[in-house]
Amino acid sequence: MQKNENSNVFKASWIYDEAPESIDHIQIKKKYELFIDGKFTKPVKGNYFDTINPSNNQKIASVAEASDEDVDKAVKAAREAFLGWSNLSGKERGKYIFRIARLIQERAREFAVIESLDGGKPIRESRDIDIPLAANHFFYYAGWADKLAYAFPNRTAKPLGVVGQIIPWNFPLLMASWKLAPALSAGNTIVLKPAETTPLTALKLAEIIQESGLPKGVINIVTGAGETGASIVNHPDIDKIAFTGSTGVGKYIQKAIAGTPKKLTLELGGKGANIIFEDAAIDQAVEGIVNAIFFNQGHVCCAGSRLFVQESVADLVIQKLKNRMETLIVGNPLDKNTDIGAINSKKQLQTIENYIKIGLNEGGEIYQTKCTLPKEGNWCAPTLFLNVSQSHRIVQEEIFGPVLAIQTFRTIDEVIEKANNTPYGLSAGVWTQTGSKIFHITQKLNAGVIWANTFNKFDPTSPFGGYKESGFGREGGLHGLSSYVKFE
Ligand code: NAP
Ligand code: MG
Repeated sequence: MQKNENSNVFKASWIYDEAPESIDHIQIKKKYELFIDGKFTKPVKGNYFDTINPSNNQKIASVAEASDEDVDKAVKAAREAFLGWSNLSGKERGKYIFRIARLIQERAREFAVIESLDGGKPIRESRDIDIPLAANHFFYYAGWADKLAYAFPNRTAKPLGVVGQIIPWNFPLLMASWKLAPALSAGNTIVLKPAETTPLTALKLAEIIQESGLPKGVINIVTGAGETGASIVNHPDIDKIAFTGSTGVGKYIQKAIAGTPKKLTLELGGKGANIIFEDAAIDQAVEGIVNAIFFNQGHVCCAGSRLFVQESVADLVIQKLKNRMETLIVGNPLDKNTDIGAINSKKQLQTIENYIKIGLNEGGEIYQTKCTLPKEGNWCAPTLFLNVSQSHRIVQEEIFGPVLAIQTFRTIDEVIEKANNTPYGLSAGVWTQTGSKIFHITQKLNAGVIWANTFNKFDPTSPFGGYKESGFGREGGLHGLSSYVKFE
């Protein structure tokens, strides 16, 4: 990546195949303010934090830190906007949401570069998955805005009011879209907090929101650390908290709002089981394993971070998996050939490295690819652990990195029992050519999302969410819309 020090303009031309004439100049400001009541606003206390490029640990920009006072201003703006926005016809609301979707599409390249720069994910993923899916969520929920009566027949669906939304760093723009689009469609107004390490695409979205002409105060974006999140959670004039993040913070929020009338949905961690039966299309399954655990450096709540291979094909699958892993390119997130980008933060790298130590201490056999990792920045080679058992911490706990724990199994009952035996219940994958086996196992697995002969596929029409310590409530589809309405 080249950076012009004076203008703070990033050139990212080489990430696309086109001729140099179409060079993109990605505008990144030196300083970002809060987006409150339709305006970019300085934080009351004047505090800013740095957002870092995790591929070299250099500062990208200063970002405003919202205090209790700023959050209060944002909530007041959202409350004031609520009556007007909720009384607008669904058709009119839909038009605004549609316009936001179109603007994301128009700026897709800029969004993709900023996402990869700020968060470390490979540009191919930002460009082909995160950003198009984010636009699609807005398109999809734009379509529901004038069909609420059809969506909830024989009942009158009303918006909840002011919604506080708190999102993590692994899919920054996409998580913002999952939250904003259905809430807007149903007529709510919003205060959104992006994660501290990845605020830039949400702030780019704020520029688009301003440009779209969305009435002021309908969406407010307040950046900051966990304290900013806590002041949203504890604000008395918020009707609902929608949270995506770790199980620990999810539990804190649940306790914090206990006894208040606030509604809550929680999308939390996971420890997805990816199950390969002996009759699976093996090469396809190996690709599926790679996608399940190494997509987005394994920073994926629904990652297939536990692999179960039927004993008769285990040696074959593991050998093929190791061979495939050696071809994965780890490096510059802005290079279009990169498969695995930077670990999102130093802190997350420490967490992952700590789990690798734990895995070794527990007696696991490690396999890491021999790739050369860049000197600067936060990196982790794709990693497997063999010879692990159910009680091992690396089998039970979410690592949120490119680390896969592998076990073998003999029978379907055995694998169902093991797959269900963690505190989580978010995702699972099944690889077999036998349809009846798929139906049987999907009934028995305690996971909110189960993929058959694929993994990590998302669509705005499909509900997504967990059981047990993976949280409650669903995003996506009609389920996602229904969590932003009440009935009269
Ligand atoms: P996190 O530490 O829980 O943070 C999530 C968000 O909550 C961030 O915006 C964070 O702010 C904020 N926050 C932190 N402390 C808070 C508090 N006391 N009160 C209110 N907000 C607070 O999680 P993360 O490390 O960003 O994300 C990784 C986790 O998210 C993983 O466990 C993953 O499985 C989960 N996840 C789940 C889903 C799903 O749909 N189920 C999807 C994606 C990720 P800061 O960033 O400033 O700390
Ligand atoms: Mg960053």
